[in-house]
Amino acid sequence: MADQPHTQIAIIGGGISGLWLLNVLARRGFGVLLLEQGGLGQAQTFASQGMIHGGIKYALGGFTTAASESIANMPDTWRQCLAGTGPLPLPAVNILSQAYYLFSDGSLGSKVTAFFGSKSVRGRVTALAAADYPPVFADPAFKGSVYKLQDMVLDTTALVAALAKNYAAHIYQSTATLLRSKTGKIIGIDTGSGIVTADCYILAAGAGNAALLADDPGQTITMQRRPLQQVMLKGKLPQVFAHGVSLRTAAKPRLTITTHPCSDGDSVWYLGGQLAEDGVNRSAAAQIDAARRELEQLFPWIDTSSATWATLFVDRAEPANNLQRPDMPFCQQQGNAIVCWPTKLTLTPMLADMACACINFEADGRAAPALELPRAILGRTPWDLAF
Ligand SMILES: Cc1cc2nc3c(=O)[nH]c(=O)nc-3n(C[C@H](O)[C@H](O)[C@H](O)COP(=O)(O)OP(=O)(O)OC[C@H]3O[C@@H](n4cnc5c(N)ncnc54)[C@H](O)[C@@H]3O)c2cc1C
Repeated sequence: MADQPHTQIAIIGGGISGLWLLNVLARRGFGVLLLEQGGLGQAQTFASQGMIHGGIKYALGGFTTAASESIANMPDTWRQCLAGTGPLPLPAVNILSQAYYLFSDGSLGSKVTAFFGSKSVRGRVTALAAADYPPVFADPAFKGSVYKLQDMVLDTTALVAALAKNYAAHIYQSTATLLRSKTGKIIGIDTGSGIVTADCYILAAGAGNAALLADDPGQTITMQRRPLQQVMLKGKLPQVFAHGVSLRTAAKPRLTITTHPCSDGDSVWYLGGQLAEDGVNRSAAAQIDAARRELEQLFPWIDTSSATWATLFVDRAEPANNLQRPDMPFCQQQGNAIVCWPTKLTLTPMLADMACACINFEADGRAAPALELPRAILGRTPWDLAF
């Protein structure tokens, strides 16, 4: 492989984790390049709801959990990045909502209400007086209560574009296939139009990590998929950034709603939460019916009759954890590879710290070599593709 282009670090995958790592490592002076098979962001990252959250939705049972605590400081870290400081300055990224809300169709229950007022979650959740409700809940028909969370919602297209901008010359479109020695050591990447070698290979390919790991005889890392059927509706819709909870589904949000602007002036409501988990075995039409019923119950004062509807089947790709949600990002060194899943967009800065800690050689301060491959371009969001 001596005559092949060689770089210090090669990253496979152009979602949030690969692009974040590209930026962090290039800023530290490593020679680094990234290979993405499709559009940048166009897998889980653009399918996400863009919520940067502090874990309160994992504490709806009325107590903190490992998941709610590991993530608690993440909104602050992201706010620093968006302000131009933090581990990675991202001042050009558009924030769709500075806050996220949690609303119930009635009382949340005294146990959860008392917990939300307790010292352990102080500053992370605030019960709102009716006068402070976001406009969508200021309707006489709304009889529940509203809480404001420290979470925020980012425009993931702007986020991916900002991460791709500074190092665009090192981001290529290619379906990467790993070349391994008999012992499983990675000896290069077949890019489809040549071979590139690296001192370290970072597998940040989301669901694609499973295939990249499959032909390693010594591999011990396994991936799980947790499927969802998200729902989208497009029309003249008010802005909603909120988890709907009810006593029926107290421990988990029944519906998670984010609002995304469209170029024609319409908005898309993107619906996840329990609805998306319960809907994986439904047809798209049945899932849309279920979503309509949820919205009629939760927002009886909002007319969605002229909206256009679509659904998205998508898997969360994560390290195996008995099909339960992992609490932490995953980063493990295996020979000359580092295998990564952030498990949450929110946890990417933590993942980057873990990955950097695995790199045991110095940056050489030289840019990665140019490859004879097309540059990868920005992917499209699910609502752009659907409507
Ligand atoms: C419906 C949904 C909603 C979510 N909402 C939120 C949320 O609101 N907040 C939050 O914090 N998290 C959320 N998440 C989780 C979050 O989206 C993911 O944890 C995160 O986006 C994963 O990023 P990634 O870069 O690891 O993977 P991906 O975004 O999936 O990127 C992996 C990339 O690797 C590429 N690839 C794969 N194989 C190869 C190959 N062989 N060669 C080259 N390229 C390859 C793929 O094309 C893809 O672009 C959500 C997830 C889903 C599914």
